[in-house]
Amino acid sequence: MDAQKKIDIRDLDLSSLTDVLKSMGESAYRAKQIFQWLWQKGARNFEEMTNLSKPLRAKLVAEFNFHISTIHTAQFSKDGTIKVAFELYDGNKIEGVLIPTHSRTTACVSSQVGCSLDCKFCATGYLKRQRNLSCAEIFDQVWLINELAEKHYGKRLDNIVYMGMGEPLLNYANVVRSVLIISAAEGLGMSPQRITISTAGIAKMIQKLADDGIKTNLALSLHSANNKKRSAIMPINESNTLEMLAESLAYWYEKTGIRPTLEYTVIEGVNDGLEEEKELVIFARKFPSKINLIEYNPISLANYQPTNRLDAFAAGLEKQKLIVHIRRSRGKDIDAACGQLANQLAQ
Ligand code: SF4
Repeated sequence: MDAQKKIDIRDLDLSSLTDVLKSMGESAYRAKQIFQWLWQKGARNFEEMTNLSKPLRAKLVAEFNFHISTIHTAQFSKDGTIKVAFELYDGNKIEGVLIPTHSRTTACVSSQVGCSLDCKFCATGYLKRQRNLSCAEIFDQVWLINELAEKHYGKRLDNIVYMGMGEPLLNYANVVRSVLIISAAEGLGMSPQRITISTAGIAKMIQKLADDGIKTNLALSLHSANNKKRSAIMPINESNTLEMLAESLAYWYEKTGIRPTLEYTVIEGVNDGLEEEKELVIFARKFPSKINLIEYNPISLANYQPTNRLDAFAAGLEKQKLIVHIRRSRGKDIDAACGQLANQLAQ
C-alpha cells in the first residue's frame, strides 16, 4: 500500500483495530495483543511484537504506518530539570520537560506544534500554530520522558501536566484520547488525578470536558481577573470572557467535584498591584478554586519582568482565606520554565 495512504496504527482505537484485524482474517485477541504492545509496552515498531507471528508482523508493516517521535536534543538544567526537543515523523519539533522534585516526578507535555493563541508573555505564542499533535505524539512524550526519569533519577513519572506548547482544548479529541490511554489499565495505568489539563480558557470545551466525565485536574491560565487587562495579554479573553470562564468552571466543579486551579503568573506592573489582588479575590470566590502564583520567567521576545511582590501578593490572598501556592519555576537556565518553551525556536 502507498505509504501516503496508510493509516497510522496508533490512530485506531481498540474497536477499530479489532475490525481491521478481523478483515485481515485475524482474531480479536490479536488486536488486544497489538493494543498492549502499542500503549502498555510502548513498542516503537512492529518487529518488537514478538508474540505475533512473523507473517502477521509483515502484514502489519504492509498495512499500517507507525509514526514515532524521537528525542532530538535533551538539555539539562542545574536544578535537575530536563528539557527535551522531540522530532516528529514529519520533521516538526516540539518540546516537553521533565521536572523532578523531592516529592514528584512530573512531565510537562505539548499538545500542538506552535500555538494560535498569542498570549503576550509566552514564547510559544510567538510561533505560528502548525498542527495538532496526535494522541500517539502526546503519548510518546510521556513515554520518552518517563524513560529519562528512570535513567537519570531512578524514578517513574507520577504526574503529567498538559502545559507545554499549544492549547490542549483546541486539540480536544486527541488530548482526551491520550488522557484515556495514559490512565487506562491497558495503557499506562496512571490515575487521572495525577494528570492536569491546563487551558488558556475555552469556556465551551471546559463544559465539554465536564460533560464527557474526564476526571483529571483542570488549570486555567488566568493571569488577570479583569477583562480589559486580561484581553491585553491574552487575546483569547475577547471571545471567552471572565464571566464565561467563571460559569464554565463552576459547571466543571459541580459535575466533577474537582476544584479548578487558577494559574496566575505575577508580572511587574501588569498584574501585581493591590487592585489586581482584589480582582483576583472576587473571581476566585465565584466557585471553589485554588490559586497557583507563578514566578514570571522573562523571554527575549517580550518586555515583561518578574515582580518583587510575589510573597506580598500571596499573603494578601491568604488573608482572604483563599488556597494559595507559590510556584517558583525550575529549569530557567535552559529556557524550560513556564512560558519559556520554544523561546529558542521562536527567535
Ligand atoms: S500560554 Fe499556552 S495558550 Fe497561550 S500562547 Fe502560550 S502555549 Fe498558547
